[in-house]
Amino acid sequence: MSTDELRSSLKAAIAAGPNNMQPFITGQHSTGEPSGSSNSRVHVPWCLCGNCRIYDDPRMNICCRQRPCITSKPEFRNLCLRHDVLEVANILNWSYQFNQEPSFCMSKFRNQAYRNFILWQHGRLGAGRRTPVPACVCHTVRMRFPQPDGQYTGYHSAHSDSDN
Ligand SMILES: [Zn+2]
Ligand SMILES: [Zn+2]
Repeated sequence: MSTDELRSSLKAAIAAGPNNMQPFITGQHSTGEPSGSSNSRVHVPWCLCGNCRIYDDPRMNICCRQRPCITSKPEFRNLCLRHDVLEVANILNWSYQFNQEPSFCMSKFRNQAYRNFILWQHGRLGAGRRTPVPACVCHTVRMRFPQPDGQYTGYHSAHSDSDN
């Protein structure tokens, strides 16, 4: 890379803002999701927050309808993106309750993140009430805890335990 090239890519990184610097520094901005990365944002007609992605399952295509997006709130980052918080929640939810060994694979972290999100937003839901997770939340959680094989089980709601 020449000095000029370095300078221009540094400028691009700074223009993208400090929150988006990481992929440029680690050189990941050209890899990752083919259509979902921040520099090739597709227009999502039903999205108000600017962070949603279109999923194959139409039930997943809902927006948090908040500006700024709910995923930019510190509460969301604390509750849904922190390993330690999700580990403790997972132990409390499952291992303690059912006397099982805790599991800390990526899908468990994602599933717990969705649960924490629903608990935070809606409190305890009555049985049978399904509350979907917004697409922006789903996308952010998947970016944080990516599935190694890229295969996701899709729809999440307050009562879906199918993510495995
Ligand atoms: Zn949105
Ligand atoms: Zn959003």
